[in-house]
Amino acid sequence: MRKKRIEIHNDREYKKFLRRITLYKRMFYRNTLFIIDSNIHDPNINYIIEALNIKKRKDRIQYVYDKSCEMIDEKGKEKNICGFKNYKCYVQRETKSKACNGCCKYCMYQTKNGCPTKNLACKLFNCSEVTSRHDVVKYRDLKILKLLSLKNRFIVKSDYFSTREDVLKDLYSYSVIYSTCRILYRWTKNDYFFSRKQKRKKRVNK
Ligand code: SF4
Ligand code: SF4
Repeated sequence: MRKKRIEIHNDREYKKFLRRITLYKRMFYRNTLFIIDSNIHDPNINYIIEALNIKKRKDRIQYVYDKSCEMIDEKGKEKNICGFKNYKCYVQRETKSKACNGCCKYCMYQTKNGCPTKNLACKLFNCSEVTSRHDVVKYRDLKILKLLSLKNRFIVKSDYFSTREDVLKDLYSYSVIYSTCRILYRWTKNDYFFSRKQKRKKRVNK
């Protein structure tokens, strides 16, 4: 395997490297081992190099997805950024809502212990109550996502209310239409689940 050394010692070199990611993904670099030489402290750099050295498409997509989730979790670690108290978030407490579980209340996968899966779109979503209080990871901070195609970048931003496995299947697909149909189907299923839950609640409260 050929070796390619990437040197990143300043902002200009970092920007140049980011611009070249699309090039480094090409067939030409299929038998290339990327080696980094950098003194910049940004976890994205090592993760991008690691991802570029994964040559199987699905394995690379999975790595990028999991590392993005990990970077968000790492920053929010031990911080209750949505201000949950008694299962109610900032917004639910401020509006004196009877609902619990914050944004997850709309999702068929929610459990009493929180989210049972890893959904990147959900992890990236923060309402203004959260952003005004905390420095959160934003989409633009996840430079590693530049390794994904445009279709896949759109999916990771919008595939809410889905399990990690379903999102990965959407990302693996080459077809925009197929992925969109899968996402719309799950949203419809989720809406149906939510409206049935609401009806059940109304019946119990009568
Ligand atoms: S993002 Fe906002 S509305 Fe959603 S759970 Fe957090 S505080 Fe609540
Ligand atoms: S998939 Fe999203 S909305 Fe559903 S439980 Fe997980 S974080 Fe909440």
